Amino acid sequence: MSMIHLLPSEAERRRTALLDLDLAEVTEVVTGLGQPAFRARQLWEWLYRRYAADFDAMHTLPKALRERLAEEYTVQVLTPVAQVVSAARDTLKVLFRLRDGQTIEAVLMLYDKRRTLCISSQAGCAMGCTFCATAQGGLARNLTAGEIVAQVLFFARYLADPALEPQTEVARPTTVTNIVLMGMGEPMHNYNNVWKALRRLTDPEAFGLGARNITLSTVGLVPMIDRMAEEGIQIGLAVSLHAPNDALRSSLVPINKRYDVATLLDAAARYTQKTKRRVTFEYALMAGINDSPELAHELGAKIRHLLCHVNLIPLNPVPDSPYQPTSDADTAAFAEILRSYGISTTVRLRRGIEINAGCGQLKRALAA
Ligand code: SF4
Repeated sequence: MSMIHLLPSEAERRRTALLDLDLAEVTEVVTGLGQPAFRARQLWEWLYRRYAADFDAMHTLPKALRERLAEEYTVQVLTPVAQVVSAARDTLKVLFRLRDGQTIEAVLMLYDKRRTLCISSQAGCAMGCTFCATAQGGLARNLTAGEIVAQVLFFARYLADPALEPQTEVARPTTVTNIVLMGMGEPMHNYNNVWKALRRLTDPEAFGLGARNITLSTVGLVPMIDRMAEEGIQIGLAVSLHAPNDALRSSLVPINKRYDVATLLDAAARYTQKTKRRVTFEYALMAGINDSPELAHELGAKIRHLLCHVNLIPLNPVPDSPYQPTSDADTAAFAEILRSYGISTTVRLRRGIEINAGCGQLKRALAA
């Protein structure tokens, strides 16, 4: 593991984060400094198309403007403080320190044709899922839109510039192709900032990633699922189900006591009706807890009528946790039962267990 310690100065912490501003606001900043509006477009392009890490890199902007901007604004809202690469060199996890000292994680996974980035939406999480490392510290705060976008820009910069992280030997495709909001936090609990970030990431004039290449994962905040169905952007929805009935699900995912399984599945049905997109149900298999053939049949019977896909996830074990991953044989059997109900089912590739790639695990390992 490599460690980089770069604490932002007090002056740096006080500067306004440019990544929190939309194009109209950036234009106001630039014209307010006496510059023509086209300079704002240039600045925007440096941020979102050329992934500039600081004002110095923006050499098409007049030096005087760059210096004025640097007095009050910043591009740096997060700093990498630890990173670790899997033995197969196909997974890179980075722990970032935010300007107020909070820490978050993001993971880059390299597949044959995809470069998938898992990002965080909150520092910590309030949802309290019993099998999750992030849950153990509770919620510190919501991330700003800029802090969410900055995680993507960091890895875009990394993929575009091999010289940035010379100590790793990961094969280097040159762009982020997919984003999943499955890192620390519950994205629906930070709805406005998450959607502000998603609009920036999908805006063709900003980062410009296809909405269909982004998936938002929720434990099931039902009113927000309905709200997402109205957004009119084709972001994928994944629901972390983990159990087919209320008794078991409430013991794993406490929010189930507020929005039970039937209510959640109804919301998923409304979502598919409204968007014509299928919902992915995430199901983390835990040995002896939620992986029996009976539960697979119960799940199959409950969701067979839905336009859906099931993604079975080998659990990343958390130290000192009673939850252990299901064996490969039992995982395959669970998947077969779901397929017998006509449900499209995949088993997620096991990635990065040795580098604590489950959300919250690197932060926890470093704190130990
Ligand atoms: S699994 Fe996700 S929603 Fe549940 S506590 Fe962990 S970060 Fe929060």
